[in-house]
Amino acid sequence: MDLSVVIPIYNEEANIPALYTRLGGVLDPMGVQYEFIFINDGSRDKSLALVQNLAARDPRVRYIDFSRNFGHQIAVTAGLDLAAGQAVVIIDADLQDPPELIPQLYQKLQEGYEVVYAKRRSRQGESAAKKLTAKLFYRLLASITNISIPVDTGDFRIISRKVVDALKLMPEQNKFIRGQISWIGYRQTYIEYDRAERAGGETGYTYSKMIRLALDGITGFSDAPLKAATVSGFIVSGLAFLVMIYTLYARFVSHEYEPGWASLMVSILFLGGVQLIAVGIIGEYIARLSANVRQRPLYIISDTNIPVTERTEPVP
Ligand code: UDP
Ligand code: MG
Repeated sequence: MDLSVVIPIYNEEANIPALYTRLGGVLDPMGVQYEFIFINDGSRDKSLALVQNLAARDPRVRYIDFSRNFGHQIAVTAGLDLAAGQAVVIIDADLQDPPELIPQLYQKLQEGYEVVYAKRRSRQGESAAKKLTAKLFYRLLASITNISIPVDTGDFRIISRKVVDALKLMPEQNKFIRGQISWIGYRQTYIEYDRAERAGGETGYTYSKMIRLALDGITGFSDAPLKAATVSGFIVSGLAFLVMIYTLYARFVSHEYEPGWASLMVSILFLGGVQLIAVGIIGEYIARLSANVRQRPLYIISDTNIPVTERTEPVP
């Protein structure tokens, strides 16, 4: 098997037929042996039936059906666990990542790179708020991590077998795959593309899912927030100490003091806020720590057409 195409699916009934046709149109002329791995991440529409139909007609179509919605990153992880190809493409099902780029990605990989990611030159059809938050997030992440996670890059990319095997050695529960791939290293490069609008259907990435992904990315690859909490703690205590000295001076030496309701309220609220933020930051890390201690399987498969003998995913 030369190439596996991993496609996470969450309510994509409007896109699956077009996606299959376009992928086939691109991959057939390449003359490589390929497979599709569809991961149905708990869709509530007819996505699963559509995929099963394709699988019945085309033996290159393999699928896994999750027992519920586990999220995009876990779906991609499951796809990578089950992919048999020497190279693996990760692509969205909504045709925002153009399949026509795959030959270029594959070509670059053959030139000796282990990872070729597709970087977004522009994005169409997404709200200004989404574009702005994404832009800020990628830059914030790049500035606080010590590995270089490329900016304006999603999971659309091709990776070699070496990288897939390395990913399987990383058992963390809170996945941020693009960060993991940067962490792994090897020779990596990119090509640029203009990101299209979603072909049909609606985004499955709600704001809460996006915030979780952002927090997974930050906590998984940086301790900067913890350090910021410590530093702001020191700064606030330093200020409080100065204010304390001034208060004592005003009370006992200069005797010029007002009954200080306002300053009291301000400092209590400010200190309370800083403390809560710091506790919250620590909480984010502890929550992830405890998720990893529980060691639950990352996902539960309810149905698949991939024979057990060909499966390499860790069996719980
Ligand atoms: N997706 C998924 N599980 C989810 C949400 C999304 O598998 O919980 C899939 C979705 O079907 C698509 C890809 O992840 O193939 C990207 O999602 P989407 O297009 O909704 O995100 P956006 O492009 O809006 O960021
Ligand atoms: Mg999309």
